Formats: sequence, C-alpha cells, structure tokens
Amino acid sequence: MKIIAGNWKMNGSRSGLDEMISALDNVETQNTVILCVPFTMVRGGTSRVAVGAQDISTHDKGAYTGEVSGQMLSDAGAKYVIVGHSERRAYHNETNAIVAEKATAALANGLTPIICVGETMDEKQAGKTMEIIESGVRESVPQNVSGKIIVAYEPRWAIGAGLTPTDQEIAAAHTLIAKTLESMGLAGTPVLYGASVKGSNAAQIMSIEHVDGVLVGGASLKSDDFIPIITSVK
Ligand code: PEP
Repeated sequence: MKIIAGNWKMNGSRSGLDEMISALDNVETQNTVILCVPFTMVRGGTSRVAVGAQDISTHDKGAYTGEVSGQMLSDAGAKYVIVGHSERRAYHNETNAIVAEKATAALANGLTPIICVGETMDEKQAGKTMEIIESGVRESVPQNVSGKIIVAYEPRWAIGAGLTPTDQEIAAAHTLIAKTLESMGLAGTPVLYGASVKGSNAAQIMSIEHVDGVLVGGASLKSDDFIPIITSVK
C-alpha cells in the first residue's frame, strides 16, 4: 500500500473539489489518497479521500492577520498539512526551524504533517544534495513523533519543471532519509517522493526502495491525470 498525496497549490474551486472527490471515491484502490487544497476548500466528510492543507501557522491564535492555526484546520476537517514545501521556503523564507515549529503545531492539533525537504539547483550543482537532505530531516522533523508524521523528498529544481532525478538519485536520497529517520528513532516513517510525478513515471518511481508514495502537484489537478497515478500501484 502506498500514499498518494496531491498538492493543489493555489488552484481549484470548491465545486472542482466536489467533482474530484466523487471521481476518486469510485476508484478501486488500497492506497491512501490525500488532497492538500487551499485553506478555503479544506473540509471533512465521509469520503475515503482525506483532505489536507498546504500550510499552518506556528501560532495558536491571536493577532496574526492572515494566518490559519492548526486548531482552525482541524475544526474545518483537515487531517493532514504540508509543511516546508519548496514554494513556502522560497517565497516566504521558511527555514528548517520554522518548518519544525509548523510540524509541532500540526501535531498538537491532531494533524499529520507532511514535512518536505529537498535541495535547490544551486545546492545540487555545489554537490550539497546529501548534506541538505540530511540537515533538512534533522532540523525540520520535531522530537518524539514516531508514527505521527510523513516526510516528502522533493528535489526543488525538479518541481513543476517536468524534470526528474535518475532512479539512482532518488534511491540514494530516500535511503539517506530512511537512515537519518532511523537514527532519530523514527524507523518506518513513510517517505514520499515529489516533483514532476505523472501517470507515466509513478509506478517506476514507487518501485524504488524506500519510496512509500508520491506527492503530486500539477498532475493532481485533473482526475484524468491523478487517477492513473493512484491506480499505477496496488
Ligand atoms: C509539488 O509542488 O509538491 C510538486 C511535486 O509539483 P509537481 O508535481 O507539479 O512537480
């Protein structure tokens, strides 16, 4: 069984989510399916598709205009929240320390954080991929979270670019993440791969050791693109 998570970013509508959820509810699969949507679309409900958000405040409540707390997300029906996505790190200056605080806020409110780590193109070209991945995991994952989190490896240069690392590069990154998590007492934490996953490469990527599922951006927006990813693995 794999975890297939979609990230709608700043796209979609409530009626579009209704249609997607109806389409996904008819798909025969044992895989866990999650859709992380904009705040205004977060909902609970009886669907087998779990809904999540894409960001969370580090604060509980108060004078933080524009922020949305974990308690609010939970109240709206969210089960998951992405933290430390590449675009949050790039456009909102989120550091590993902030990401760890956001993951802690998620856990305090019963949400499962999907904690993203990955290297930029500059870091890759400087030969720092492994160092960035390891420090990303060590510094972005809070203490004592066994069985409560998901990690996503997203090479930042490949997101939305139609580029993917080689299978060997993905295997090396995921093996390092699994070992790092093990050394932190977090063996068995699911680790997703994300960046330019589509129906045509999903099965191959999910056959790589230590790849427990995928985090999908662009190809999660339309059911015709997303369903083949969900059904590409049993
Ligand atoms: C993402 O934004 O998390 C992502 C993986 O995007 P894409 O699949 O479009 O590369």
